[in-house]
Amino acid sequence: MAIVHVFRWLMVIIIIAIAGCVPPPEYMAKTGKRIGLDNDYIKILLLRDLLKVEVVTTAKTKVLQLANNTIVYNGDARRFVLFNNQIIQPLQFESWNNEIQINGISVRGVIQLHPVIGKIQVVNVLKMHEYLYGVLPSEIMSGWPEEVLKAQAVAARTYAYYHLIKNNSTYFDLDATSNFQVYKGKAVETEATNKAVDATSGIIMTYNNKPILAYFHSTCGGKTTDDKYVWHGEDLPYLTSVVCPYCKNSPNYSWQVELTLNEIYEALTKRYKTVGKIKAITLGREDARVTVVKIEHDNGIIRMSGNDFRLMFDAKKIKSLYFVAKQTPNGLIITGHGWGHGVGMCQWGAKEMAQQGMRFDRILMFYYKGIRIMTYTMQK
Ligand SMILES: [Zn+2]
Repeated sequence: MAIVHVFRWLMVIIIIAIAGCVPPPEYMAKTGKRIGLDNDYIKILLLRDLLKVEVVTTAKTKVLQLANNTIVYNGDARRFVLFNNQIIQPLQFESWNNEIQINGISVRGVIQLHPVIGKIQVVNVLKMHEYLYGVLPSEIMSGWPEEVLKAQAVAARTYAYYHLIKNNSTYFDLDATSNFQVYKGKAVETEATNKAVDATSGIIMTYNNKPILAYFHSTCGGKTTDDKYVWHGEDLPYLTSVVCPYCKNSPNYSWQVELTLNEIYEALTKRYKTVGKIKAITLGREDARVTVVKIEHDNGIIRMSGNDFRLMFDAKKIKSLYFVAKQTPNGLIITGHGWGHGVGMCQWGAKEMAQQGMRFDRILMFYYKGIRIMTYTMQK
């Protein structure tokens, strides 16, 4: 089939390059939910709301129309530029198991382009272990001891499976940001983190035979916390507070920061329309974490969760909910412990445990209570 004919309706710019690959078994747009070893496919929303995409492959390229699984292109072209108004139906780009670049991000697996309300949503469909290769270096220091990398691999895999099973409706399972866990594709992969993924292939944590919601964070500051104190509505039995004596070497074990009244006012005005001059700020605590913040101002009172208050500011400002505050004429002097939400595995604590010779499964059982560590083979 002539390229011009096939792509007339797309009006894409195609640059023909010389082929010459020996294709290993190609990827398929599998969306099955079978649980098992790391051959399961996962769909990651990599980029959202784009007006233009550039797909570059390193070998032959096949383009499928996903709605009817029709091949609309199969040939030597290596570069495709598409605009939002050219994508009417979801398309999939495959390159026979070779690396694909999408707007400069290198990934394994295949790329799907989904038109949603006039914008292009880019989804990377790839095998679980390939996804985890790109998650680990984005979420933990690849130079850390092997057992902590393995603990992180199991936590990240479990977290991914939890969402893979939970999500039935959309064209992706997780996004690539800290809304879920950060995934940066192939370019960040390291030998040590890939090895940790392979060494724990298929291993996940379960509670009542289901993958757990395996939250993790940088530094708990001496004590992890129950999920119910951070996010409303959840109270998972395996996410309970643990005294952690292991993260004292973290650079964020203790910190202090000043938050001016002006900074607080500015942050509040982005969320609330009629904020007046701030008169008083009261903090409510549970389990040493700030769970409620009450702000009295000239036009009324604002009550919000500690977590919502924390997330109004830059991540480096209020590093955790484990803090006390002293009011000054200028604002608040905040003294705190740890970095992150404080729920589940404390990475700096896990690192110390690994340095003391503990295995990854023991590290995980310390931070997640009542769980089992297993290779899960049940079908959904
Ligand atoms: Zn800790």
